[in-house]
Amino acid sequence: MLEHVLGAIDVGAVVLDADRRVVLWNRWMAQHSGHPPAEVLGRDFLAVFPDLRGKRLDGAVRQALRDNFPAVLSQTLHKAPLALYADRAARSRGVRMQQAVAVTPLDVAGAARHCLIQVSDVSAAVHRERLLRDQAMELRSQTFSDGLTGIANRRHFDLSMEKEQRRAKRTGISLTMLMIDIDFFKAYNDHYGHQQGDDTLIRVANALAGSLQRPLDLIARYGGEEFAVVLPDMDSAGGARVAENLRQRIAQLAIPHAAATGSRLVTVSIGVATQSPHNPVEVVQLIGAADRALYAAKRCGRDRVVIENP
Ligand code: GH3
Ligand code: MG
Ligand code: MG
Repeated sequence: MLEHVLGAIDVGAVVLDADRRVVLWNRWMAQHSGHPPAEVLGRDFLAVFPDLRGKRLDGAVRQALRDNFPAVLSQTLHKAPLALYADRAARSRGVRMQQAVAVTPLDVAGAARHCLIQVSDVSAAVHRERLLRDQAMELRSQTFSDGLTGIANRRHFDLSMEKEQRRAKRTGISLTMLMIDIDFFKAYNDHYGHQQGDDTLIRVANALAGSLQRPLDLIARYGGEEFAVVLPDMDSAGGARVAENLRQRIAQLAIPHAAATGSRLVTVSIGVATQSPHNPVEVVQLIGAADRALYAAKRCGRDRVVIENP
């Protein structure tokens, strides 16, 4: 009965004697190692799995036999200690089964201490775990990016702005923000249709994002056809230069806009506001100033940059 059970269970079972020789090797082990019992019984366990020498499992076996200590090898630290394979295809590709291994000392009456090694296949669990982790990362990135344009979203901007504003105050550096709005965009939609409006919105977002130079600069879709930019460690003059560069970049895209006045191209207006080290303000004040500057740019004819102090 015991032999049937050992043959039927979906776990590898190996028993080693006090000299680490294999005295039991169940069918599961034969199947996944490729070694039938006749080949391994009586042999040193390390001769069967030579690459175990000096590894954690080798140590666990020694400790079980010598000190009567059980051990469980965590699959995250020791993914595949034994040369075991799910099937022949995996063996020929050299892809080991992911394993969880437990080593248990066995005190056998009238004999020196033995030990039992149990191996289970955790490939499916590991795979599932990886999928879940990837999904969690994907969800996380979705939470912080805008679905249409792929750049950062409003939430990302809010968090980044809070953080950078505190950092600027603490370390005594400037912080500049830009508020950018596409000119006559309602008219663009009315003239070209909402779908083409979306396409243009994406092109503008990508062009703006691609024009920022420094790793900590952040551009986000603030709402509708409005974008906000955080420029840490940037003074007012520097911010104005970046804004002018962005304005020109969009004009150079030369996207026709038949319903716009002036150039008849898609253009943007930009408001610039700076928190300087000797005049720290609240985030709302900084955004308010950038908003006022943007509004002034619109009033003065659009397709331009205006600076306003918070
Ligand atoms: P102004 O030059 O003063 O900014 O004029 P405007 O028409 O751009 O300004 P307004 O804020 O009145 O209109 C913004 C328009 O942007 C309204 C809406 O039709 C369009 N819009 C906002 N979000 C989207 C979007 O996701 N896709 C498309 N296609 N259009 C959008
Ligand atoms: Mg607009
Ligand atoms: Mg707008």
